Amino acid sequence: MSFQLNQKIKGLTPYEPISGNYRIRLDANESFLAPTEELMKEINEAVSGVRFNRYPDPCASELCNAFAGYYGIDSRFVTAGNGSDELISVITNAFLQKGDKVMCFTPDFSMYKFYAYISECECIEVPKSESFEIDIDGAIQRAKKENIRMIIFSNPCNPTSKVVCSSEVERLISSVDSLVVLDEAYMDFSDQSLITSVDKYDNLIILRTCSKAAGMAAIRLGFAVANEILTSAISSVKSPYNVNSLSQEIGRCLFSDPQRFRYSVERINSSRDMLADEFNALCKKIPDKIKIFGCAANFVYMRVESAEELYKHLLDNGIVVRRFGDYLRITAGRNHENSEVVQAVAEFYSM
Ligand SMILES: *Cc1c(COP(=O)(O)O)cnc(C)c1O
Repeated sequence: MSFQLNQKIKGLTPYEPISGNYRIRLDANESFLAPTEELMKEINEAVSGVRFNRYPDPCASELCNAFAGYYGIDSRFVTAGNGSDELISVITNAFLQKGDKVMCFTPDFSMYKFYAYISECECIEVPKSESFEIDIDGAIQRAKKENIRMIIFSNPCNPTSKVVCSSEVERLISSVDSLVVLDEAYMDFSDQSLITSVDKYDNLIILRTCSKAAGMAAIRLGFAVANEILTSAISSVKSPYNVNSLSQEIGRCLFSDPQRFRYSVERINSSRDMLADEFNALCKKIPDKIKIFGCAANFVYMRVESAEELYKHLLDNGIVVRRFGDYLRITAGRNHENSEVVQAVAEFYSM
């Protein structure tokens, strides 16, 4: 045996989502809404027209037009990807060189650090405040002083569910020489998007995904939005046929009816508000046990006492959420699912 894995990948293990059969899954920030019958009909028709023996459109032009139409932007600023995860990987790999410095804020989406590591870059992890705010002035100073090549963060943030207002994000973008990758995976649930401002900046890439608000995690579809120079660079470095024809067709159907899309977002937002309201009410009763942080995305984030035991208690009740140390991230689900998780938490602390 002479072949040896190199040092950087030797210790890695494949991503393992939470497995097992749970009644209520509130762990992955997916949408609880399945496509409507009407949308399914359109999808079936569109998919039946796919020429399976041919490669897909490498630019996904019709899909990008539909996406751009929905968000009111120019389709020349849009690149489609096989999930926004792929785009994070492509951007990190291509825009950074070995040894470059990437700035992240913690806590945030863990994949940023992972892809920076694979690209042999140094990840500068800046801790957020106790209430999970980003110190924008501190970030600006550090980015300049330490010659940061790329700043990447999610807004609203996964896992804290907090949103930074767009003017603060713009202040960051316009004050640094770094590339700013702004992951707006959850921005459909909030209102601080910079998607219509990308052409104002030469250093901004916005990422969006169909996996959350659009309820299409299964098709792996994401988008990068940036000015023409950056878009051309992203298109040039991505693999040519990264988005398959089925996903292109399904995505096109999805964005073709703005009202239908907005209605789903409204339903998820009211579920999120219900979940947050119920936890806030519970928090008033047991303020020493749980503390709610953000609810700007389709999930709530809270610090809980005896997190590990509570997490297990929920599993025992067939409910799965995500635990990060002393914190739980709970995705908004159907009404009865929200009520059950709140009930199970209340029950745990009254035992
Ligand atoms: C879920 C999520 C993604 C991944 O999106 P895909 O398009 O499914 O790859 C990206 N960023 C954040 C912050 C997420 O939570």
